[in-house]
Amino acid sequence: MAAWEAGDEGGGRKVCIASPSVVKGEGTGEGKEGDSGGANPCAKQNMEERGSPDGDPARNLEQGPEGPETPIQVVLRVRPMSAAELRRGEQSVLHCSGTRTLQVSPPGGGPDVAFRFGAVLDGARTQEDVFRACGVRRLGDLALRGFSCTVFTFGQTGSGKTYTLTGPPSQGEGVPVPPSLAGIMQRTFAWLFDRVQHLGAPVTLHASYLEIYNEQVRDLLSLGAPRPLPVRWNKTRGFYVEQLRVVEFGSLGALMELLQMGLSRRRSSAHTMNQASSRSHALLTLYISHQTQMPPVDPGEPPAGGKLCFVDLAGSEKVAATGSRGELMLEANSINRSLLALGHCISLLLDPQRKQSHIPFRDSKLTKLLADSLGGRGVTLMVACVSPSAQCLPETLSTLRYASRAQRITTRPQAPKSPVAKPPQHLETELLQLQEENHRLRSQLGQMDPKASGLTGARVAWAQRNLYGMLQEFMLENERLRKEKRQLQSSRDLAQDEQRILAQQVHELERRLLSACYLHQPGPGSAPPCPCVMVPPPRCHALPPLCPCPCCHLCPLCRAPLAHWACPRRELHLPQVFGSKAPADMPLPARPPPWVPPCSPGSAKCSRERWGCSSELGPETGGPQRPNRQLPSTWPEPATPQ
Ligand code: ADP
Ligand code: MG
Repeated sequence: MAAWEAGDEGGGRKVCIASPSVVKGEGTGEGKEGDSGGANPCAKQNMEERGSPDGDPARNLEQGPEGPETPIQVVLRVRPMSAAELRRGEQSVLHCSGTRTLQVSPPGGGPDVAFRFGAVLDGARTQEDVFRACGVRRLGDLALRGFSCTVFTFGQTGSGKTYTLTGPPSQGEGVPVPPSLAGIMQRTFAWLFDRVQHLGAPVTLHASYLEIYNEQVRDLLSLGAPRPLPVRWNKTRGFYVEQLRVVEFGSLGALMELLQMGLSRRRSSAHTMNQASSRSHALLTLYISHQTQMPPVDPGEPPAGGKLCFVDLAGSEKVAATGSRGELMLEANSINRSLLALGHCISLLLDPQRKQSHIPFRDSKLTKLLADSLGGRGVTLMVACVSPSAQCLPETLSTLRYASRAQRITTRPQAPKSPVAKPPQHLETELLQLQEENHRLRSQLGQMDPKASGLTGARVAWAQRNLYGMLQEFMLENERLRKEKRQLQSSRDLAQDEQRILAQQVHELERRLLSACYLHQPGPGSAPPCPCVMVPPPRCHALPPLCPCPCCHLCPLCRAPLAHWACPRRELHLPQVFGSKAPADMPLPARPPPWVPPCSPGSAKCSRERWGCSSELGPETGGPQRPNRQLPSTWPEPATPQ
């Protein structure tokens, strides 16, 4: 089982190279150096390219290849011995060999174990050295080009994660970190502002800062006291924190203030291994967007564009070693749980079959928010931090194994899609209007000409075209439809004119017929033979069309009301109906003629106005069906006898 091999990097000592395959076996110590990236050709190629002759890790990382699959870059930082450790006379168990290999020399004379990373920095290296070695500028450039980039620190509590990212703890409220001790974040901010100023193109910068404390996400930039925020998921954004405050800033000073604000609000406590131990995972994200990029649709959504995220993980801790009790112990358990979930995801991401396997990112808030950085479309840098103390060796080995695994994880950085500028407002409005008009014209055309409804058939490919193409098509089609509509309207107008003339002719004929009836009455004084009072009535085309309510109608010949008996409002109507010309002694028929429908009680349709608006003979009246036409508002007076 033991496949320990003597390496040539141990300077004469027996050295074991712990490759990622060693790590996969959960610290069995198996494997060979040559296995590095073996399962993944891209990772292997990447390793080879990183091994440039001069071995400058900064150069190697900054020139790292960008391909369809990019491994997570890992830089290892060993913190210097603390004053307390030195006082105890401890010796470092970690030795850097070259710029990329770390040797672990277990106390008690066991074989050394070597780990290879993109860069290894010992305790003597300055903050500036670390910043350069990490190649954060390359990540910054990628973020400026629209990529989503993440830098996260990983390691045991007290190993220097927070120090590496933001420098030593502040010496008091508002006291800035000395520039020489500023961490990766402050250095990146300064570099970014310098870069943006030299870009020429206007760039908008926003920031958010949150912490995950006891599995609750809290906004470190919130205006009020931080309150728990939900983590949600959607197709376009992946996992995101709802209602997170995203602040726009325009100067380096403003960004530094945001950082200080977040740092001062972040939970930290003292325990035996760290006087200022972070009790939460903190994520500061810079959103970099160019003016050509679409503004977010949702006001709560961060702007589209590149992202640069700095993650300061809370350190794993052995509760027994840190002496955590009560709340500290709860915090430690929560931290360890989320780190365990992270480790689990890392293990599964290494699985060559991972495309089929499920990665349980949902197991913790931390893994949800790191999902894209670990297995998604981001570009990721891990800074693994370790303590040189022999007392921390088990934790150090665990960190080294995780870090070794992590560098075999590949992501698929997605090239930003060319930003689609939002169409100007007036174009959008015009498009909507044209669409509406198009719809209306089509339906009108469909009503007028059934053949036209087939026009919609060939419009399937429209949705795939761009907005301007669609606009143009709509305009053309609308023009054509308008023309067609004009033609149809003019032929309809012609038909209506013809109909009007015919109606006038009919009208005139009716008038003449009535006059003739009046003139040919048998003798003076006797009542004219009126067709409307005869039972059953003859079909008489000379009769005016009847209103469904009979009470308002007079016989055009004898002026007798046709259905006065049925209308409860007869008394009201009679004086108006008869008018001054109605003979006072005119007899009223005793019962309605059978062809007249009864007037429904309470019906409001008994007014004189109905004369002009609804005067067709309906089927229920037994009258002939006529085309819908407007009738004259008053029936012509019968011609007076000459
Ligand atoms: P972590 O965040 O991993 O728990 P810290 O960053 O808080 O650890 O570091 C623990 C202590 O060690 C702090 O007092 C910090 O100032 C100190 N420290 C860590 N790394 C270094 C370093 N490279 N140089 C000097 N001091 C360091
Ligand atoms: Mg910390």
